[in-house]
Amino acid sequence: MFTRRVLLGRGAVASFLWPAAARAARPAGPAAAAPLVMLDPGHGGKDPGAIGVSGTYEKHVALAAAQALRQLLAADGRYRVELTRTRDVFIPLEDRVAAAQQKGAALFVSMHADALADHAVRGASVYTLAEHASDAQTAALARRENAADRFAGPEFRGTSPEVARILASLVRQETRVGSARMARSVVGALGHDLPLLENPSRHAGFVVLKAADIPSVLVEMGFMSNRQDEAALRQPAHRAVVAAALRRAIDAWFAQAGPRPDGVRTAG
Ligand SMILES: [Zn+2]
Repeated sequence: MFTRRVLLGRGAVASFLWPAAARAARPAGPAAAAPLVMLDPGHGGKDPGAIGVSGTYEKHVALAAAQALRQLLAADGRYRVELTRTRDVFIPLEDRVAAAQQKGAALFVSMHADALADHAVRGASVYTLAEHASDAQTAALARRENAADRFAGPEFRGTSPEVARILASLVRQETRVGSARMARSVVGALGHDLPLLENPSRHAGFVVLKAADIPSVLVEMGFMSNRQDEAALRQPAHRAVVAAALRRAIDAWFAQAGPRPDGVRTAG
């Protein structure tokens, strides 16, 4: 994998994965014709993610929901689908992005159910990468989410707001447009069946959304800090509703992008 390490001042170093590396690694032949959707169940292993008011771990809910969505997406062969993790294992944020890059993913969907300070707040929401956070609640969410790498050891503790700003500035305009369109698609699909957070489409410096050339969104399926959301997300039937809505969002996103000559890149 081709990475470039960049010194960002005050000792912070970030590794950037360049699109050329992803293109070189893309497999050839008929198997590559279906676009790859990379699902990213948040947290895992020593990082439990948010712990719900009655003790549910976000990492378990995220993996179960991603597996349900993979099953739906893979059913008719329109997509190839991979997960950044398929078991309860810790994966640093950068490695999640790297996996999507290396495999030439057309779309990256990170799945979470984090916690907020205000336990009354509930509902689904979707996040895209931006230099400046859309609101204080989202800024706090991104800080907590980016802090997942504190479990990885000292070499990963480079995720300052400054780093997040630089990462955001490297994302290509075409990718931003594709991410924003996916966020609208997710809000439309989720809002049909589920309660949504107020202003459900938000943005901040999420490290896991930093792929320069892959449209990326982070979905909060609900919040572990809210008793109703936690109880719902514990239920397979509720996760199936979430997965079905996300499948509609993904279908709509690809349908709107239209077929591309290479059959893989649909960032626009
Ligand atoms: Zn999370």
